[in-house]
Amino acid sequence: MSTTPFADQDAAPLWRQRLLLAASLFCACLVGIASRPAGYSAAIWPTNALLLGLLLRNPAWARSPATWLYALAAYLAADLVTNSHWLTTLGMNASNIVGVFAGWYYLRRQGPAILGFTRQRAVLFVLAGCGVAAMGSALPGAFVMQWAFAAQPWSAWVMWLSSELYDMVLFLPLVLAAPRGWIWQWNMAELLRPLRHASFTPLLALLASEVLAYVIDGPGMLGISVPAMVWCAMAYGVFPITILNLLMCSWKTAVVAMGGISFIPDQLSVVTSFRLGIALLSLAPLAVAVAHQLRSEALARLEQAVNHDDLTGALSRRTLIERGQRLVQRLHLQGAPVAVLLMDLDHFKNINDSHGHAQGDAVLREFAALVQRSLRPQDLFGRIGGEEFALILPGTAASHAWLIGERLRTQLRDYPFALPHGGTLQVTLSVGLHATQPPGPQDGLERLLACADAALYEAKAHGRDQVRGGLPDQG
Ligand code: GH3
Ligand code: MG
Ligand code: MG
Repeated sequence: MSTTPFADQDAAPLWRQRLLLAASLFCACLVGIASRPAGYSAAIWPTNALLLGLLLRNPAWARSPATWLYALAAYLAADLVTNSHWLTTLGMNASNIVGVFAGWYYLRRQGPAILGFTRQRAVLFVLAGCGVAAMGSALPGAFVMQWAFAAQPWSAWVMWLSSELYDMVLFLPLVLAAPRGWIWQWNMAELLRPLRHASFTPLLALLASEVLAYVIDGPGMLGISVPAMVWCAMAYGVFPITILNLLMCSWKTAVVAMGGISFIPDQLSVVTSFRLGIALLSLAPLAVAVAHQLRSEALARLEQAVNHDDLTGALSRRTLIERGQRLVQRLHLQGAPVAVLLMDLDHFKNINDSHGHAQGDAVLREFAALVQRSLRPQDLFGRIGGEEFALILPGTAASHAWLIGERLRTQLRDYPFALPHGGTLQVTLSVGLHATQPPGPQDGLERLLACADAALYEAKAHGRDQVRGGLPDQG
């Protein structure tokens, strides 16, 4: 069974996975055969890229020879039900499988980096893999075409190579970038997740540039949409751009095939140039999408490291104070209330002494997670130091803040912290509360924290495991 992060079929038995694979390949072959104009060569052939992508996503499949036999059987079945000659079918499909094997053999060592394009170089590796796969099938394929259709070996080789590279470059990134499980489960929510907050403007720009290309006319239509595609790449991310690449290239190929522009690829060299050009152009938006995704992820990691405490994930003291000061100033201007809760775990030193520092860390982590689960997006939660945390609740009156403090206190007291050697540990919490309605010019964050600290001191002095404090006149 596969253990890679992108494996799609961790749970299903291997025979069922192979059957599903064969069924998918059979359907993809039918799509390809439907695009074969005169029983000669298909205008679009997604099957090889689909097989190669799925084998890379599920390495256990590729290591079993039976998978390759299932795949060949699916190819043959699709051709035979569409009445092709069996010997030609065998030769053409064996060539396809040889190409996929060559591509898999080259790409299998690139490992998880090419799945989901988690490294910038993955785009180049995938392109090289497409080249190896196309070369691998074009060599035997050209001989089969010479024998079966009396084709010129050189032109058969060029045609096979260019169309296979075209299909690979368009379909393989799509299969590799598809989110985990998506191919089998048809999980639209997962597909649309990156697009939820995306704007439609780049897509409109893409449509506009296609119209412009059509109006201007001529072979420049190949590149006119590149700026809009680059914009889409930055707006929508890697997987959506692989879909857009496929749609755009198919659209341009269809426009040219139907004579929509005054550029007629009537010779083998022009067809080859057109196919290669259009497919390789799609790598530019893909590379931009990958670079943009990696940059966004790196920035998010940096933001997390700079602003958050690495043990608990709560805001660091410095960031809490900075953001808290700005928040309190804003609430002052708006005339809205604010509540500050200072929370300190009781007798925490004893936990470290009795159960070890690691257990103490686990308590801090789980307490922080417990608080974070009940936060609203506008609340600020930070670790002030050691086992002391602060919660700043904008727009919250003292009575409500008191209930929140009480709820956290009882939740923690009832929380069974698991001990490594069995049993559970009970931890209690003291809370100091201070709220203002609204904060005045004298109520800077320092003052609010100092008042909450005084209330916390009171809670400790009165026996711990309680909430103390409230409005200024009560606290
Ligand atoms: P009180 O009930 O009065 O709050 O007593 P306490 O033991 O909780 O508080 P005290 O300030 O005496 O001790 C806090 C302890 O927290 C001491 C320190 O070793 C421990 N501590 C601080 N930071 C960490 C940490 O990141 N991990 C762990 N495991 N312990 C920490
Ligand atoms: Mg304490
Ligand atoms: Mg303390």
